[in-house]
Amino acid sequence: MTIKCQQGGVAYTAVPAGKGKGTGTARIPWERACQEVLGTLRALIRLDTSNPSGNERIAAEYLSGEFSRYGIGSVVLESRPTRANLVARIKGRDAGRAPLMVSSHTDVVPAEPGWTHAPFGAEVEDGCVWGRGALDMKSKCAMDVLLMTAIKRAGVVPNRDLITVAVADEECGSEHGAKFLVEQHPDLIRAGYVLNEAGGFTCYVGDNRFYPVQVAEKGYVTVKVTVTDAPGHGSVPRPRTAITRLAELILKVANTPMRLNVTAMMRTSLASIGVSPENAPAMLAPVISNTASPTMLHAGYKDNVIPGEASMVLDGRILPGENPESFCAELRSIIGPEPALELVKTAPPVEFGIQTPLFGLIKQHTEAADPGSRVLPWMIPAGTDSKYYKQLGAICYGFAPVKLEPEMPFGSLYHAHDERMPIEGLFWGFRLYARVALEFLGLRFEDVFA
Ligand SMILES: [Zn+2]
Repeated sequence: MTIKCQQGGVAYTAVPAGKGKGTGTARIPWERACQEVLGTLRALIRLDTSNPSGNERIAAEYLSGEFSRYGIGSVVLESRPTRANLVARIKGRDAGRAPLMVSSHTDVVPAEPGWTHAPFGAEVEDGCVWGRGALDMKSKCAMDVLLMTAIKRAGVVPNRDLITVAVADEECGSEHGAKFLVEQHPDLIRAGYVLNEAGGFTCYVGDNRFYPVQVAEKGYVTVKVTVTDAPGHGSVPRPRTAITRLAELILKVANTPMRLNVTAMMRTSLASIGVSPENAPAMLAPVISNTASPTMLHAGYKDNVIPGEASMVLDGRILPGENPESFCAELRSIIGPEPALELVKTAPPVEFGIQTPLFGLIKQHTEAADPGSRVLPWMIPAGTDSKYYKQLGAICYGFAPVKLEPEMPFGSLYHAHDERMPIEGLFWGFRLYARVALEFLGLRFEDVFA
């Protein structure tokens, strides 16, 4: 039975715990748990949740069914029809301990033509599961489901609440997902710690292996720049028009590096891979400076009229410690005192400390799972839902571990054609993930898996 009701104009569906299997006392054989993670991942890939338009409801319904089968109730919240978010919780013994939340997004970026495998087919071939979301991030969603249902099936109780959240709309700004939950349903998802995406995969630098774990992400300052000049007839060209002046500004932005500004965390992490920020390769520039990318242009309305106005949108990204004012001041130093800068939207950067028991467990277990490797606290130049969870006071880490071979670099798969997940790497990652999460929940791996 499903309870549907309206709460604040929002569809709110409570899916009660199913009868039958419920809480058990049976530890799950590890091999079986791995096969279940794989099965859940494949089922999720087959649900086309391309965003836009999202349609995450099909994923939320599938997940609530999985939870219900094992006696875990959940709620599904929609900001608007089909944009569904699922939240499930297992109560812990000690209400005084801040909950651990494991988070994933169920939407995926669209798959354009050109794949060698059907993007929503979840085919298994060459040791991989192929499909959109295999890496970003239905694999972590599958791990989260198994983590929670395994605890329930084993009949053990964690020392703190465990919340599983599977949100909509991360790939298009989180308006219907994490942002909606944080603003409309904060009590459901308030947690002390969050394990989210963007970290824990193998990176090869020379002969060394590293596991970057996201502990910081940049903020954004989206700016519209509008240039005006006298309009005229297209048959009488002149060197100075709104369009040509805007073109000059674009080249200035593109050709002027923004100043180096290395956070203490990034300086330490770069040093441990032997990189000095002053001589860092260009690909690292986004994590050691603000950036500005022209992403939208607008000018003209008729082929024979020189327009009096031309504008661009700059996608500005700012480091921890920066703010819109400091970014605009830096932009001014590049483009000059004119023209006016109009703020379109902003979000602050975030950085989380690493002197926490959870980060300690991530480091300890990751380095033990791949001897000789090192965990690297890292910043991503883009954003994740962690910036929203932080508003509720959570410390968030990007940790969705997977072992990748050198010939399959993470960057080549992310949002790319032929996104795929190496199955052995997934099982390795799930074991590591479960060890970290269970120990943080006051449980032993052996209490849950046989
Ligand atoms: Zn993602």
